[in-house]
Amino acid sequence: MKRIALFPGSFDPFTKGHEDIVLRGLKLFDEVVIGVGRNARKERYFPLDQMMELIEGAFQAHPAVRVISYEDLTARVARNEGAKFLLRGLRNTTDFEYENGISQVNRYVYDEIETVFLITSPDLAPISSSIVRDLHRYGQPVDTFLPYKL
Ligand code: ADP
Repeated sequence: MKRIALFPGSFDPFTKGHEDIVLRGLKLFDEVVIGVGRNARKERYFPLDQMMELIEGAFQAHPAVRVISYEDLTARVARNEGAKFLLRGLRNTTDFEYENGISQVNRYVYDEIETVFLITSPDLAPISSSIVRDLHRYGQPVDTFLPYKL
């Protein structure tokens, strides 16, 4: 059976830190599904359709990567996609505290799901979507943080 992992996130925007997690995930799994979460109550900075296209472009050379968007419980989406694994990146202890909680909830929703955490590569750890948004909002070039051209 194919080992499929869902990599869920807001990806607003998708950064080189996220790309690193996907590329390393490909060494562990047969397929990595990047799930861009939609939240009707939270407005995005980068439009969803644009971000999905950019992510797809960034992984053109990797047929084992698929991009979807969803508005549902993450664990339920994983089950529907045939994914028994969730892939997440850990940058620091703040990420850990947060991830600890959600990984318990995800197992409550889908008891077969396992979350696999990859520790961020040190050079990419300082990159966060919110910092990239702030830089971009005030006109600072952000290409160096992104695996595609905006
Ligand atoms: P969420 O809103 O679900 O936290 P994000 O898009 O911010 O979504 O992040 C998705 C996943 O990517 C999370 O597991 C997060 O810890 C991880 N991540 C974010 N930035 C980096 C980075 N620079 N390096 C590695 N992983 C990262």
